[in-house]
Amino acid sequence: MIVALPDSLATEKLGQALAQTLQPGMQVHLHGDLGAGKTTLIRALLRGLGVSGRIKSPTYTLVEPYEIARLPLHPQPQAQNQVELHPLSKIYLYHFDFYRFSDPREWLDAGFAEYFRADSVCFIEWPEKAANTLPQHDLSVSLNHASSAEYADFRTATLQAYSERGQGCLNHLHFQTAI
Ligand code: ADP
Ligand code: MG
Repeated sequence: MIVALPDSLATEKLGQALAQTLQPGMQVHLHGDLGAGKTTLIRALLRGLGVSGRIKSPTYTLVEPYEIARLPLHPQPQAQNQVELHPLSKIYLYHFDFYRFSDPREWLDAGFAEYFRADSVCFIEWPEKAANTLPQHDLSVSLNHASSAEYADFRTATLQAYSERGQGCLNHLHFQTAI
């Protein structure tokens, strides 16, 4: 799926729309150059999931953790979920930025493998820095700049599913400016 993002607000709306579609245990990869809007999109997505307070870019900390009570699609986590979670268990959201990694296995050395769990959702900027050492992801969002200075704010987002759950997200996604 390819969508047009004429300005930051459109990117934020895409983030909010994606927030409505996520399931526990998912991993979302964000591609795009510096300044493409990856953090802008994830910040809006985290807000859409009910994260309040400051949402910092994990550029220097490598990961920023958040906790929420539930995901929008799963008002009461129960046994009918694909992933069985205790009804009172929280959902953990992890926003990674692997830009500063120089070796594909550095994320393992950093102890990040334990963040990929059935009760977490992981968002990864610069997953390509981990080459093919990451677990299978569900969804990727690739942001592309317009080449023309006249349309400096214009981006396109290409969303691609890599699993059934990822495809479920795209099926549930309500976002207007598809091209
Ligand atoms: P990244 O995380 O990909 O490096 P950021 O989200 O940190 O990028 O920064 C994107 C910058 O570009 C922000 O300053 C944002 O305001 C600006 N911007 C302009 N147009 C857009 C757009 N359509 N989508 C996202 N960000 C945009
Ligand atoms: Mg960023």
